[in-house]
Amino acid sequence: MAFLVCIYNLPAASGRCEKAKLKTDPKTKFFFPRSTLLVEIERRCSFPDCRAKNLVGLTRDEAIEYRGFDCTACERWNDDKVEGRELPDSWIAGEEPRPN
Ligand SMILES: [Zn+2]
Repeated sequence: MAFLVCIYNLPAASGRCEKAKLKTDPKTKFFFPRSTLLVEIERRCSFPDCRAKNLVGLTRDEAIEYRGFDCTACERWNDDKVEGRELPDSWIAGEEPRPN
């Protein structure tokens, strides 16, 4: 019956019919990937007179290019690298977020 109504009202109402169909279609699903957007790594300043604790937040892209940090206490550069075990598996795999 609904189908016949759509045909009858063409073309003016066809858009409305289409929207109503999408709204109630049980096959319509929304996919929200669960993925880590930021990791925080803990580092000590490498200078003996400082040794301040630094928390460095890295996005996936930043983690790939990470080469060190500026100490928050003495503001000196610390060469550093991030280990694979410190990053989420999904980042290391080099894939887009997978459905869980
Ligand atoms: Zn420092």
